[in-house]
Amino acid sequence: MRIALVSEHASPLAALGGVDAGGQNVHVAALACALARLGHTVTVYTRRDDDSLPDRVDAAPGVEVVHLNAGSPVPVPKDDLLPYLPELAAGLAAEWARTAPDVVHAHFWMSGLICISAVQTVADAGRPRIPVVQTFHALGTVKRRYQGPDDTSPRERRTLEPWVGQTVDAIIATCSDEVTELSAMGVAPSTVSVVPCGVDLSLFRPDGPREQVPATRTRLAVVGRLVPRKGVELVIAALALLRDAGRDDVDLLIVGGGRPQDAMHEDPDGVRLLGVAAEHGVSGQVILRGQVPQAELPAILRSVAVVVCAPWYEPFGITPLEAMACGVPVVVAKVGGLTDSVVDGVTGIHVPSRDVPAIAGAVRSLLEDPDRAAALGQAGRARVANGYSWDRIAAATVDVYRTVLSAQVPNVTPGPTVTPAAPAAAFAAPQASVVTRRERRP
Ligand code: UDP
Repeated sequence: MRIALVSEHASPLAALGGVDAGGQNVHVAALACALARLGHTVTVYTRRDDDSLPDRVDAAPGVEVVHLNAGSPVPVPKDDLLPYLPELAAGLAAEWARTAPDVVHAHFWMSGLICISAVQTVADAGRPRIPVVQTFHALGTVKRRYQGPDDTSPRERRTLEPWVGQTVDAIIATCSDEVTELSAMGVAPSTVSVVPCGVDLSLFRPDGPREQVPATRTRLAVVGRLVPRKGVELVIAALALLRDAGRDDVDLLIVGGGRPQDAMHEDPDGVRLLGVAAEHGVSGQVILRGQVPQAELPAILRSVAVVVCAPWYEPFGITPLEAMACGVPVVVAKVGGLTDSVVDGVTGIHVPSRDVPAIAGAVRSLLEDPDRAAALGQAGRARVANGYSWDRIAAATVDVYRTVLSAQVPNVTPGPTVTPAAPAAAFAAPQASVVTRRERRP
């Protein structure tokens, strides 16, 4: 199968840990490689955000990354990308007019928009219509609910994201909670399959090097982007409660951010978190490690007693799975994808959302019962190894592609076209009635 993965802001080649570079980048890179291992030919399309990037990169056997031009080749926050979408859609349409993929898989709502548009342009030129599969990675409705006025998404997301959901041929949700959210957005549940994210099991494994920790210290870790909704503040506050309860031997390693360790004092999120640590009187126990290449994460994870993941909400959450894959017990907020991936009391501990005493209590219970902590770690590894290999995730994804391909019917009704001349009109008022919806399987 010729597969096009489209990830407008999240390049599979990007460094991870910054504000807009995390799970989606990992997902697209790993899925592309796993699909190629299954024998498929994969092209990943992403926006060129650096002048030095070549047009096309052979990223791995069977995987090519294509950099599409849209505006100046500089980084643009994803929430400011909307005006660039027509140019991206035109670039995709030109590519697919030359060589059409069998299936297109869009990642994030804006990629969905440009894929729908590009596929329509190709079909309007008399070519067979290419089916579009959508993974949202995150939903604007959820983001708005938790971030309120701090949500910097463009206003248009409110109408365009549901429209994408109602228009594409199939949706891959990454957790069961997302299915409920999609349904509330007017997406037919019959079009939604749940396929979680995966973990690189050969990298994240219990055996291997581990960082040295001073004999008198115990480490907790949080890993990921440090944006407020990831709840790192809550873990710092829990660290203070642990100290108050007599565990002043515990340090918190914070991995992630937009810069390496020696520049984290210039990172806005780093500065914010250091301020929180100072407020709680735990500055000496908080270590900001900054952005760490993924290949170096397992040695860090193996050195910690517990990984804590306390987001306000979480569409999936790969980092707890990476910890579990290394045999490390996890304490996670009972939200979103974490309720599927972590089995409470078996492979980790669930705590209520934004509950600092519960985080501290769960961590303390593990620190004081190493046998139980080890058992949870072992069970976590087994769960991830059984259900979350990228090969398994890729196979389930291919099942969805095959389903939409087998349901293909001719496309005759023109949908809205995204043109550089009229981006606002194209994106402002999508009408479900003028949009082609193909037959769906029951
Ligand atoms: N990550 C990394 N280095 C860092 C911070 C994060 O390699 O310094 C990776 C981490 O291993 C994980 C991903 O970024 O694979 C974050 O994914 P997750 O789903 O946890 O969070 P998201 O970014 O999607 O909100």
